Amino acid sequence: MATIGKTTCPYCGVGCGVNLSVPDSSMEAIPPVSGDVDHPANFGRLCVKGSSLAQTIQSDDRLLTPIVKGESVSWESAVDTVGEKIAQVVKDHGPDAFAFYLSGQILTEDYYVANKLAKGFIGTANVDTNSRLCMASAVVGYKRAFGSDTVPCNYEDLELCDLLIMVGSNAAWTHPILYQRIAEAKKQRPHMKIVVIDPRETATCDIADLHLAIKPGTDAAVFSFLLHHSVQAGVLDNGFISRHTNGFKAALEQANESTPTLFSAANFCGISEQDFMQLASWWNETPKAVTFYSQGINQSSSGVDKCNAIINCHLATGRIGKEGAGPFSITGQPNAMGGREVGGLANQLAAHMDFATPGAHQLVQTFWQAPNMATENGLKAVDLFQAMEEGKVKVVWIMSTNPMVSLPDTDQVRRALEKCELVIVSDCKAHTDTTEMADVLFPATGWSEKDGTVTNSERRISRQRGLLPAPGDAKHDWWAICEVAKRLGYQSAFSYKSVHEIFVEHAALSTFENNGKRDFDIGHFSQMTKEEYDALIPVQWPVPKGQPEGTARMFENGRFFTPDGRAKFIPITPVLPVHTSTPEWPFTLNTGRVRDQWHTMTRTGDAALLTKHTDQPYVEIHPKDAKHLKIEDKALVSITSPYGEALLKAKVSRAVSPGNVFAPIHWTRQFSNAAVVSKLIPQVVDPLSGQPESKHAQVKLEAV
Ligand code: SF4
Repeated sequence: MATIGKTTCPYCGVGCGVNLSVPDSSMEAIPPVSGDVDHPANFGRLCVKGSSLAQTIQSDDRLLTPIVKGESVSWESAVDTVGEKIAQVVKDHGPDAFAFYLSGQILTEDYYVANKLAKGFIGTANVDTNSRLCMASAVVGYKRAFGSDTVPCNYEDLELCDLLIMVGSNAAWTHPILYQRIAEAKKQRPHMKIVVIDPRETATCDIADLHLAIKPGTDAAVFSFLLHHSVQAGVLDNGFISRHTNGFKAALEQANESTPTLFSAANFCGISEQDFMQLASWWNETPKAVTFYSQGINQSSSGVDKCNAIINCHLATGRIGKEGAGPFSITGQPNAMGGREVGGLANQLAAHMDFATPGAHQLVQTFWQAPNMATENGLKAVDLFQAMEEGKVKVVWIMSTNPMVSLPDTDQVRRALEKCELVIVSDCKAHTDTTEMADVLFPATGWSEKDGTVTNSERRISRQRGLLPAPGDAKHDWWAICEVAKRLGYQSAFSYKSVHEIFVEHAALSTFENNGKRDFDIGHFSQMTKEEYDALIPVQWPVPKGQPEGTARMFENGRFFTPDGRAKFIPITPVLPVHTSTPEWPFTLNTGRVRDQWHTMTRTGDAALLTKHTDQPYVEIHPKDAKHLKIEDKALVSITSPYGEALLKAKVSRAVSPGNVFAPIHWTRQFSNAAVVSKLIPQVVDPLSGQPESKHAQVKLEAV
């Protein structure tokens, strides 16, 4: 008789609860998983990726022992090698010669320990993560407006609103369970309007009342005009603006200047005035409005401004902190939020404090009793890999991510890793494009074996549970970090015996000398027992002392986390992407996901069912462009940018508009060297968030 354990899906930021059956014998196959009916994210539903999880557990390609320079070695020996090299490099070149590059796939407890070792004990803030590619712009947008990285809404708001504006998101494929919840709500409440703003006609448009196929990158102008128009339409919430915000006048003046007329806004965005006015009229009529945004907004050289253009509209109309209303960023990864909570970005410190917060680094130093506290921001992902190529960062420890496929300009990533004196990769897979670059490989536990917490897009902390035994010598990431820390001489600060001890310390830091001043406070958990941690029921932070039920919705009292408690409007000037089409590079490349694959397919690639939907890389081309270039459907196409070339199969489709093409990001060099799409993307980033502009690259196409 198998026993059933509750855990959380390791894929997207919806964070669905999963029931995993654990067979009595390791010889038995893992039965199919089911959705957890008690989990408030999914109430028992799972998408095809989630329901195929059992097929991905018993992989033939597990990394089972530590490997140093190609030889299997003991953990003792591997950890000694790493500890000695980090100590030598830090002694000879200073702490910033070391870096962690982490992942939204690792658990909050792993993140906490890595962050503590680097920022408090080695003395470098070079701790960045693939979450930089996912939601860094949303973080900065929230911080500029609210004084904190706080997601105001929850999933129920998506069902309770009367107008849902989905911007830069193909949720039908990327966040399927949220999409299903939204579709069901619309069925129950047919008056609910859904507007999709996206240059592509995606599967999400199936439930849309209106699709605005804007020119790539022009999203900010839509919201600039909405702000301007809200004044003319008389839908401002003047009471909210005067009591709870600053900076409205300047933001409005900028909106008036940037998008003075309907004609100018529609022209900039490339859509009809009639469609624009339809959106504006629904916006004017509908107090219960949510704007749902994701990578199409964030992965942009002006991603932060786009986020604030959205937030400005909600602040101006008081549509925030209320049921069915608010600006709602949806994270791509299962624990992008948890990483943010512990300081897993190079510009953060811990517990939602950053280096710019007066007194914050001293507070964290006191709490950790840290001997070498970092005091300044470290390097963000793209800058970090550039610093490796320049020889400034000499040792990098990459954990649970595949930057050789996922970062922009992957040829640069190769040069960067080749230049490092030591590349350590922790992964559960033996063969990825990044493990091939490693000097040291640490075998890591994977989903169903590792134990800890994750936080989903609605601030809900859930347990991922270690229900199956670790294969071979695979160990938890937090354990490996602690072993290296001990080799560096930091025994007592890294003597954790379990993830429970780490979580309780993280909770205590969140409430340490806090006095209600920070948004992220889970002080209620600072005294919890191991049994309580093991039984943790999904809960939305903040969970301060005396409020064990957590917090469903933020800012209901109109108070924000700025020094004066008021939210801030940010004046926004909509701009085009850095690289737009030219006669030499006549197409704009947009990138994204397919329905059934996840990131670089290291897990989903193992489930036969998941390759059925899309089994090969492709590029979507409009029929007019295909005809002009003599490209047949399914023919091989060379797609070139100033940074590299890929060979992809043509998918001739009206989903993209003329002059634009779309290619999914999942395929790796292991499939074919010509299939890696990220190599075409320039290392252009948002200057505030450091998030790469992965949605807009200049390319040219040629029939092969
Ligand atoms: Fe997993 Fe996301 Fe699918 Fe839920 S919607 S089952 S979290 S991939």
